[in-house]
Amino acid sequence: MPHQPLTVSGVEVTPLCDAVGPMGETIRRPLPELFPGSAVQDEPWVLHFHCYLLRDRAGRVTLVDTGIGAADSPASSWAPVPGTLAGELAAAGVAPAEVGTVILTHLHSDHASGAVADGRPLFENARYVLQQAELDTARGAILEQVVTPIKGQLQAVEGEAEVSPGVHVRLTPGHTPGHQIARVGELAMTGDLVLHPVQLADPRVRYLYDDDAEQAVATRVEVLDGLRAERAVLATAHFSDPFVRL
Ligand SMILES: [Zn+2]
Ligand SMILES: [Zn+2]
Repeated sequence: MPHQPLTVSGVEVTPLCDAVGPMGETIRRPLPELFPGSAVQDEPWVLHFHCYLLRDRAGRVTLVDTGIGAADSPASSWAPVPGTLAGELAAAGVAPAEVGTVILTHLHSDHASGAVADGRPLFENARYVLQQAELDTARGAILEQVVTPIKGQLQAVEGEAEVSPGVHVRLTPGHTPGHQIARVGELAMTGDLVLHPVQLADPRVRYLYDDDAEQAVATRVEVLDGLRAERAVLATAHFSDPFVRL
């Protein structure tokens, strides 16, 4: 079921809970190995997989991330597929054709796989916004099964951009080369900038599956410092509570 929505700067933001579950055995590790050197406890990690639905007063609909996708998606090797994004959207009263903008924070399979269904773009009227640096490094199943089918609807951006009125994206590299976060008002949808609350307590804590751990730490420290200074609200992908006020 969708979590409770929040309204910021006239935009209603609804967390869509695509799935809840542990990582599959292929990549599962004890938390102290996933977040080395941190004070995290060795307990099971049950991830939520959140996408965010944004609706403004003019009726514009934006979706941030698309979840784990169908049973045969590239995420099926490790994530609890199939995702329930379509049902979550329907529960929120939105049809896929109403989505005008899809922001993909990055091209990991649990964020991008739901962009397509049956080999075609699920959101037929949407622009799909990705950082150029992310597109440049896409390969394998994600390239073939996600990027190629949405090619005709891609909007590549570099650095910062306003992708819909009041909705901004910003390049935040490290977790992946072209990772981006999205902003609306005081809210920041942070993708995999932070994976676990232990990284809020100490942004220098590394994550085993960051592409470039050093760059990821530098980005996380800088971005979280800025967000903390403005007392922003984080909308995270994988925490059990979608919203966290800093
Ligand atoms: Zn959730
Ligand atoms: Zn990721």
